Amino acid sequence: MSSPFSRKIWDEIVKAISPNIPPQDLELWIRPLSPIRSEGDNLFLRIPNELHAGIVKERYEELLQSTALSLGQKLQFVVDGKSSEKTLPPPTAFHHPDLNPDYVFSNFIVGSTNQFAYSASLEVIKSAGKKYNPLFLYGGVGTGKTHLLHAIGNELLRQHPRYRVIYLTSDQFTQAVVHAVRFDKLSEIYDRYARHCDLLLFEDIQLLKGRKRTQMEFIRIFNTLFERNKQIVLTSDNPPGELGELDGRLRDRFESGLVVDIQPPDFDLRLKILTHKIRKEGLEISEEVSDYLARAVTTSVRELEGSLNRLLARARFEGRKVTLEFARSVLKEYQRSVLPQISVGKIIKVVAEYYHLKPEDLRSSSRRHDVAYARQIAIYLARKLTSLSLSALGQEFGNRDHTTILHGLKKVEKKMKENRDFELLLISLERSLRR
Ligand code: ADP
Ligand code: MG
Repeated sequence: MSSPFSRKIWDEIVKAISPNIPPQDLELWIRPLSPIRSEGDNLFLRIPNELHAGIVKERYEELLQSTALSLGQKLQFVVDGKSSEKTLPPPTAFHHPDLNPDYVFSNFIVGSTNQFAYSASLEVIKSAGKKYNPLFLYGGVGTGKTHLLHAIGNELLRQHPRYRVIYLTSDQFTQAVVHAVRFDKLSEIYDRYARHCDLLLFEDIQLLKGRKRTQMEFIRIFNTLFERNKQIVLTSDNPPGELGELDGRLRDRFESGLVVDIQPPDFDLRLKILTHKIRKEGLEISEEVSDYLARAVTTSVRELEGSLNRLLARARFEGRKVTLEFARSVLKEYQRSVLPQISVGKIIKVVAEYYHLKPEDLRSSSRRHDVAYARQIAIYLARKLTSLSLSALGQEFGNRDHTTILHGLKKVEKKMKENRDFELLLISLERSLRR
């Protein structure tokens, strides 16, 4: 089953290429391809057979790939019935259709920011339903929650092939409940999820906020599973205490289990993840470049992987070597084109607000300590998120010359390296700017 997201991208790609392909060829060769799933920047496509694959690759691959690239995607072709792609591991014997077979413990890289979540997940494997129930994993987007959630499912199934594992997102569950209410079939939902389940993996519980009816059903199911010692694992982007309009009973239940957070990856973990991927896939990326990427992409693992994939795809298409300079320009371009446009004005406003200063202060030439400090942060974010040159930045920030700006940037980068709290502050400012 393809995800709605991969289906949407694939539809867009087909739409974009259709003017360039005779209609009968489109029907014959392109329509039979179907999206399997998307992962980071990779969109996996199923091709019916070898013959078909040969023709598609020969005639249309370039067009398809370049179109996909303009949507930030790389296509990976998977011939039906075979798993010839090295990115797809051999199917395990007990593969659950809703679980991604790539998300396993063995390729989850552990660092100080996710160590606790990783260990807790392993504990769940050892004593499912008995010790940490529920396990509540929370953290920002792209930090590895889904990876761990699937890893728990995959591993428990490997050890206990008869385990009945149910994987649900909040949205799927809500839809099921709405449907059931309409057709008066709530008891079926209860049967399906509470009576025939040994492990419930539930994604994005924060999305149940405000959905009273759905929460009620969830509580019923949750209680039954809990009483029967069936393991429940939940993910959320907030801790239970910050789930706002969530039924108090649920919050209490969540807190009675084990609540664990995953932080955005720190530099060491970012570098480790890159190095792992580079080694595994035998990529030609210098240490200088991976070091640069690990420094520049701070917010999430997903973005880190995305940036690397994009860089590789661009290098491949343009037949270029991945030099530091090339990496810089691709990353800049990405930040400019894919992320929402962020103006210096907005950056100044957000940073000033955070420090209880006035935007004019940051734009002024004042050297007051607190002003200068906030200004440096704003300059760093502006350098990262806008396309302004050093001297243009200088003009925005109190007519400073570009060497002063550069000096300030270096200071911020150095501090980020040395002080994790400072880095986390910048990550959270960057995230709130991008929202
Ligand atoms: P979340 O659910 O927190 O938004 P995901 O689990 O979807 O994040 O992770 C985003 C991407 O980053 C996935 O491709 C995942 O495999 C990868 N990833 C996250 N953390 C790690 C890690 N520690 N080691 C390896 N890959 C990771
Ligand atoms: Mg997720």
